Amino acid sequence: MDLADVIDGARKGNVARLHHETARHHGDAPAIEYHDRTLTHEELHTESSQVAGGLAERGVEPGDTVLVYLPNCPASLIATLGAFKAGVAVSPVNPQYRKRELTHQLSDTGATAVLTHTALLEHVDAAFDALDTDPVVVAVGGSADHVHSFADVRGEELFVERTGDDVALLPYTSGTTGTPKGVQLTHRNVRAQLNAVLARSHELEAEAVRSLVWLPLYHITGFTHAALQPLIRGGRVCVRSAANWDATACMELIGEKRITHFIGVTAMYVDMVTADTFGEYDLTSLETAIEGGAKMSVSVQREFEATAGVEMGEGYGLTETHGATHTQSGSTFGLRPGTVGQPSRMTDCKIVDDAGTEVPPGEAGELLVRGPQVMKGYHDMPDATADAFTDDGYFRTGDIARRDEDNYYEIVDRKKHVIVSAGYNVYPSELEAVLGEHDAVAESAVIGVPDERRNEVPKAFVVPRSDIEVGADITATELTEFVLDTVAPYKHPREIEFVEELPRTTSGKIQKFKLQDTGQ
Ligand code: AMP
Repeated sequence: MDLADVIDGARKGNVARLHHETARHHGDAPAIEYHDRTLTHEELHTESSQVAGGLAERGVEPGDTVLVYLPNCPASLIATLGAFKAGVAVSPVNPQYRKRELTHQLSDTGATAVLTHTALLEHVDAAFDALDTDPVVVAVGGSADHVHSFADVRGEELFVERTGDDVALLPYTSGTTGTPKGVQLTHRNVRAQLNAVLARSHELEAEAVRSLVWLPLYHITGFTHAALQPLIRGGRVCVRSAANWDATACMELIGEKRITHFIGVTAMYVDMVTADTFGEYDLTSLETAIEGGAKMSVSVQREFEATAGVEMGEGYGLTETHGATHTQSGSTFGLRPGTVGQPSRMTDCKIVDDAGTEVPPGEAGELLVRGPQVMKGYHDMPDATADAFTDDGYFRTGDIARRDEDNYYEIVDRKKHVIVSAGYNVYPSELEAVLGEHDAVAESAVIGVPDERRNEVPKAFVVPRSDIEVGADITATELTEFVLDTVAPYKHPREIEFVEELPRTTSGKIQKFKLQDTGQ
């Protein structure tokens, strides 16, 4: 795709236009590989345009919202592109959600259609009953009385113009903390992330781009960074079900398919480096191996790089910023482990103290960002939207960060996870990084628990490596001493509990509030 096309596409409102351009230039090239099924860019374009027509013929109108409630599969991408083409916003739903969560998302969005799978229909029906509503239902895997199959929902190809300000995606924030909020991401927000990658497309021949999508497609990192960015470039995505995550199968697939792009959460990389099979597969086709969504352990990164023979980068962003605001890949001085790199193009950042005053390099404060990828606001929540932005239009990330003199940013922790112990700030992620350096530790999570004298003290939940026997190979006292050798005494965990696994969201984030409930 040449620059004139990109600029032309960028000027027009609807982001789906960009894939239309891709299909014009790379129509015969594979777009989606899903087990035995391959779809070319032309097929993806045609099928999604027909879904757009089919939705319109069944009464779904431009400006409506539809739910895409599907596991990772080609239909999820066809449905999303189809909805964009119909001028409809997509609210992606975690396929693990059941009646309660689905009912909330259905009523909060006022969705007029649900695109799903027959295996999930009972939950859709339960949510409809609870709300006494009756949207259009399209399901992969067959039709029934009130359900259209994906095959027969196709209508005349359709493309509806939108403005850059119209909502394209309405994901709900992952809910590691409070009530889920609908995040309004506009066509301009989506395009900002796609333009960022198109500007770099000289790096690799378009059709040579092969991305492995194992992150869930309902999450922005999986959808935008793992799938849509390579697709818009003209590359192919190899899609696997997030629920069937398997570190060995992933490494095997990277070798077999000569995957060039892989994005995963920390837990995926931990699983790979601790698998017995690590080192058995050829991972050298990877041009980029990226971690996002949580702080990467530098030791895991080093282990992965040393054995796999490829560089690993870290990205940072939020659902509210439609993915990355910081990446290592485009950074001036290359990769710097322990940081998330420099801000993306056209992204302004500030780090401020509690009074809102900017702090100098090296000092920690809340990270504020402003850029074309930042959301319009929270759906139907004017107060939450107003609270989320400063008067000069910066979005408050709620993350504590510091930057160095070269403008590389380090994410220290979530603001609300900071433990204040006897007046000192203790950042859980610092202790998690120290614990991660011990040979016996696979991963850990640190929370604050109440303490009469100090108000709060750190407590660590530690998952030992699979070959480690707690008591024989490692004890809590040994680990405490190990931490005390490295950090100031006021920071060390007063309590260490060994656990088999940590509670996580399906997008890989540790659910600290669950530890908080059980840990005290
Ligand atoms: P979500 O909206 O589910 O994508 O979650 C966004 C949050 O994930 C951010 O506010 C950060 O707390 C966290 N996060 C994302 N990327 C990183 C990273 N590279 N390092 C540390 N935290 C991260």
